[in-house]
Amino acid sequence: MAGDDGPPLRLRSRKACVVGAGMAGLAAARELRREGHAVTVMEQRGDVGGQWLYDPRTDAADLLGAAPAPVRVHSSMYASVRLISPRETMGFSDFQFVPSRHGGGEGGAGDPRRFPDHREVYRYLRDFCDAFGLMDAVRLNTRVVRVAMAPRPPGEGGEPKWAVMSMNVRESEGESDQEEEAAVQEEVFDAVVVANGHYSQPKLPTINGMEQWRRRQLHSHSYRVPDPFRGEVVVLVGCGDSGLDIALDLCGVAREVHLTAKSVEAATTPAMSKMLANHGDLHLRPRVDRLRHDGRVVFADGSSVVADAVIYCTGYAYSFPFLDTGGLVTVDDNRVGPLFEHVFPPALAPSLSFVGVPRKAIAPWLFEAQARWIARVLSGRSSLPPPEEMLRAVEEYNRAREVAGVPKKYSHDIGGVDPSVRTFSCRLLASRISLHSMSNNFFDQEMYEFVAKYTDLPRVEEWKREIILTLLRNVKDDRETFRDRDDDSENVRQSVQRWLAMSAAQGGATD
Ligand SMILES: Cc1cc2nc3c(=O)[nH]c(=O)nc-3n(C[C@H](O)[C@H](O)[C@H](O)COP(=O)(O)OP(=O)(O)OC[C@H]3O[C@@H](n4cnc5c(N)ncnc54)[C@H](O)[C@@H]3O)c2cc1C
Repeated sequence: MAGDDGPPLRLRSRKACVVGAGMAGLAAARELRREGHAVTVMEQRGDVGGQWLYDPRTDAADLLGAAPAPVRVHSSMYASVRLISPRETMGFSDFQFVPSRHGGGEGGAGDPRRFPDHREVYRYLRDFCDAFGLMDAVRLNTRVVRVAMAPRPPGEGGEPKWAVMSMNVRESEGESDQEEEAAVQEEVFDAVVVANGHYSQPKLPTINGMEQWRRRQLHSHSYRVPDPFRGEVVVLVGCGDSGLDIALDLCGVAREVHLTAKSVEAATTPAMSKMLANHGDLHLRPRVDRLRHDGRVVFADGSSVVADAVIYCTGYAYSFPFLDTGGLVTVDDNRVGPLFEHVFPPALAPSLSFVGVPRKAIAPWLFEAQARWIARVLSGRSSLPPPEEMLRAVEEYNRAREVAGVPKKYSHDIGGVDPSVRTFSCRLLASRISLHSMSNNFFDQEMYEFVAKYTDLPRVEEWKREIILTLLRNVKDDRETFRDRDDDSENVRQSVQRWLAMSAAQGGATD
């Protein structure tokens, strides 16, 4: 494997703590164990799955999520979520995301569609845990409240150790989690892998009058079902994937749905035109200019509506409220840094690492690669460049992106940059899964190069690339039907059949 220094004589086993048991944390747990490390996964919720563990509760007292982090309800899934990425590309390399054979019960019945509902991903992650015996490494209902370097005994050098403070929490119906007092524990670990996700902490725009507006305002983080908006006039700020999905969810339930875009011209795709033609109650508007006392929402072109509710579909912020690195890792304008290859903070590597930071990546494939790299660096099988070299690489990476005109807030979007930007890390940028960018660069060579450099994971097969490219075409054409089209080529059809047959060999997603 490229990037290795040859087989070391003895691999080290480290005592590692993983924060979070979502897709990234589970990938980390599996890879760390495989490499012989002793792993404890701390998960604040009562089950694994992260975002995919649907939570009907919301942060009821703070629907905008504007209070200081962390939000108390982690999952931002709404009830109607169906995948935007095809299941064929959403599996672990050796445990494919084939349709589950669950007949009901916990997690409900299976959903065999290519773009299944969110419960199918939850069931898959549970099955993954079972198949690899991960549950005995996971400590549920355990919220990490502080991670900081453990004090070193005088005269002792070497890599830092980490003190992890956690407390028991319990999920209570109807309201956000309750912390159980006096249940705080502190443990010391050789390594901490941060995998707490980044689709929970709302990012909000600043809009004139927002603070004073007395009608309902919430972030999409707190949207679950359309029913509370029955008969209402609803304005949706932002028309990314969540904005579009929620708009469709509300059509036919709300009286009027006004979807706003920074640029109406850019938002008027063939898919948008079809949506507008199909739903008389849906309107596309320019950005919101201000919210008035009387309930009127004024748009940038001077038009306005009297609205009952405003839903901000404006994305999420990275947030590590438990992490105290003494300023060595910071979040600045949604850039977590410095992080070498989005994984290791140079000054604290390898004992502190992050899995799952990149956005618009192929998950869990990339998480698996990151986790395998971390596990091997910790064991000594692989090595990192010296800290100053890693730091220089991060700086070059950031500079290259700036030159390419990528705003800082998109630092971890591993796509959408000028392909002429060619520092190694930037090679990752050429592939992306944003259904908005829809670049045909999606499965560019560079992402494979990254994975190949640090791991021995198999490549994503050609037929899967073909599915993605078809998806990218279809979503441009019709937002409402792209998930249910039956237009596979003969090659894809046959490959899918072979792939399904293979599920028996992997033990499949079991009953
Ligand atoms: C509405 C919606 C739709 C999406 N659709 C897709 C899609 O179609 N395809 C796709 O690839 N991705 C999609 N995503 C992104 C999806 O969230 C990621 O693919 C994936 O779930 C990220 O996994 P993760 O493990 O990094 O984070 P998460 O799934 O968020 O897991 C993080 C875990 O860490 C735990 N945690 C956090 N803080 C602490 C703490 N202090 N102590 C202990 N535990 C903690 C959380 O409880 C959680 O279980 C979607 C996201 C949303 C919100």
